[in-house]
Formats: sequence, C-alpha cells, structure tokens
Amino acid sequence: MRARISEKVAAGTRITDEEATYLYTEADLADLRTWSTTVRDRHHAANQATYLIMRIINYTNVCVAKCDYCSFYRLPKAPDGYLLPQDQIYAKIDEILELGGDFVGFNGGFNPKLKLDWYQNTFRQIRERYGDTIEFYALTVAEMMYVAKLCRLPYETVCLALKDAGVRWITGGGSEILTNAFRLRHSPQKYTADDYLEAQETIMRCGLHSTGTMVIGFDESIDERVEHLRRVRQMQDRLRGDGLPGLFSFLSWTYKPYHNELGGLEVDGDSYLRHLAVARLYLDNISHMRTSVLTQNDNALRGLHFGANDFDIPLEDEVTQMAGAVINRNIQDIINQAEAEGFTPVFRPMAQAPALRNV
Ligand code: SF4
Repeated sequence: MRARISEKVAAGTRITDEEATYLYTEADLADLRTWSTTVRDRHHAANQATYLIMRIINYTNVCVAKCDYCSFYRLPKAPDGYLLPQDQIYAKIDEILELGGDFVGFNGGFNPKLKLDWYQNTFRQIRERYGDTIEFYALTVAEMMYVAKLCRLPYETVCLALKDAGVRWITGGGSEILTNAFRLRHSPQKYTADDYLEAQETIMRCGLHSTGTMVIGFDESIDERVEHLRRVRQMQDRLRGDGLPGLFSFLSWTYKPYHNELGGLEVDGDSYLRHLAVARLYLDNISHMRTSVLTQNDNALRGLHFGANDFDIPLEDEVTQMAGAVINRNIQDIINQAEAEGFTPVFRPMAQAPALRNV
C-alpha cells in the first residue's frame, strides 16, 4: 500500500477510499508530510503561505437546532439570547479594517425571528457602507438552509435574493461531518448531509462563491471521515465537469468539547496533522487547503508542512471560544510562527476575490 500511494503521489493520480483509510490509520506521519507537501507544492509556491486577518461576527446566538456538540446556542426566550445591533456589527468591521484585515464571516444560529428580509437589509447596508473595502461570508450553508425553510422558499430563491443584496460568499460552515448517520446522532433537527450538499451545490450554481469545511474529533469513525471527503470530491467533480469553479478552499478544524452536552476529549495535534495531509491528498480537485489557527493555535502552523497553504489569523469567534478555543490576538506573533516553520507569509486580500458569475 505504501509503495502504491507513493507512486500515485509522484504521478498525480487520484487516491481511493481504501488508500485514504490507510492514510488515516496506518501511514507513517513522516510519509504523510512528504506526500502532502509534494501535492501542495504542485498547487502553490513552495515555502509560501497565505493568511487572512479575520473575525467571525456572531450576530445572534438564538438557535432552535439544539446540536449536542454546540456550546453557543440559546433557545428563543432564553435570558441571555441576543441579536447584535447594527452599530456593534459596524464596530467589529471597523476594528478589522483598522488592524489591516478586510474580511469578516457572519455566523449565528437558526433564529426564527430573522426572515430573509433581515439578512437582505443587513448585507445590503454593509455593502453600501463599506463597498469593496470589506468582504464577508454572509451566513453558512446551514443558516441559508434554515432561512429557506423558515420562509418556505427554494434555496435558489434565497441565494439569488442574497446575491442581489451584495452577497458574494455563502461559506461551508455547519458541515461538521457530512454523513446522514452523524446528523442523526448529533443534530437531527439541523439537516441531512444530502440536504446540505444539495444546498451547497445550489449556492455555487447560482454564481456565488463557497468553501468546503470539515470538523474532526467528535465520535466520527474513519469511514465517516472518508465518506465526508468522498462526497465533497464528488460534488466538486460535478461542478467542475459543468465548467464551474466549485469550492474555493477546504478548511479543517477540530471539535472543542467544553460546556456542551456531547463533551469528550480534544483531538491530539498529530491526528489533526494527519487529517490535513489526508484531505490534501484526497481532494485533488480543490486548490486551497486551510489550516485552523482558531482551533489549533501553534499546531495549525505545523499544518503548513502537511498540505495546508493558507491559515487564518482570527480575532474572535464566540462559537468556538464558548467551547474552549483560546484566541491569540497578537497578529505579528502568528506571522512569526509561520516564519519559524520556514514559510514566507503573504496576506491574502479577500476584497480582491474573483468576480461573481452571472446566471
Ligand atoms: S451548531 Fe449552529 S445550528 Fe447547531 S445548535 Fe449551535 S448554533 Fe445552532
């Protein structure tokens, strides 16, 4: 198996599910480092890594989905449920701009009080106020799905309405592990994996940008991890086969087990590196692999040796912080760590992302 994979990496041939399972369970970490770097360097300049300076704006913590791994949500009518006022949203964007960043991601909950018009108004006003100086992920795939369900609208209608309001990205958050069995175990009220992928494909067929994500470290089996990767690769094949760009990037982060119903233990650092390498090797049709400083801190920069070419410098994300993530707000410190790993960090401007495609 080792020789076969080595030959495939050298030839640039696609690896199978069986080989991915071997990479997760038996392959030597040194081999994974070598192989994933070979593939990484085919897609990107060797010894260079791009980064974003960003924050997640958690605009509401009210949510009815009740995922058992979530430490963030509050049910409607809970005394500490909130919806951020507009001036606080603007203050958070202003701070990112002052620090040299140009990117925020919106991530809240399934809040039954917020209909499509709230999102349209919010994003339209941000686009009018900031123009192209800021880029934003407007919602995750999962939140877009909830808005569609709440308003009894097809995904396509919601996507096109958001696009008309100035939205360019609906990001792949809320995927966790994309198997129907995982959904049933942990978030039965959220959506199935089939629904999620249908919604994400619709987003991209509507001409919006999207990203792939995956969270490891719950109770998922290796088969479930491979299934997640397989379904993402298949979707990307379909989109690329139709001449569309598909997912811009794939971000892997780790579950934080504190202050929620599910609990458990944190994934160890080497398991995260192993997963990054497997994702790089398996997802041959996605260019950018992102490593998560938000959930892995220093270890995320080691991930640049395991197939990742891009990292985040986060200022805030209440969802993961409530579950135990500790954020280092010293931007230069994180840049220095990437340099110490032997990489030249290069700021990746989000405000210059590729133009949207008309449909
Ligand atoms: S993970 Fe998201 S959808 Fe699930 S309960 Fe938390 S906020 Fe709601």
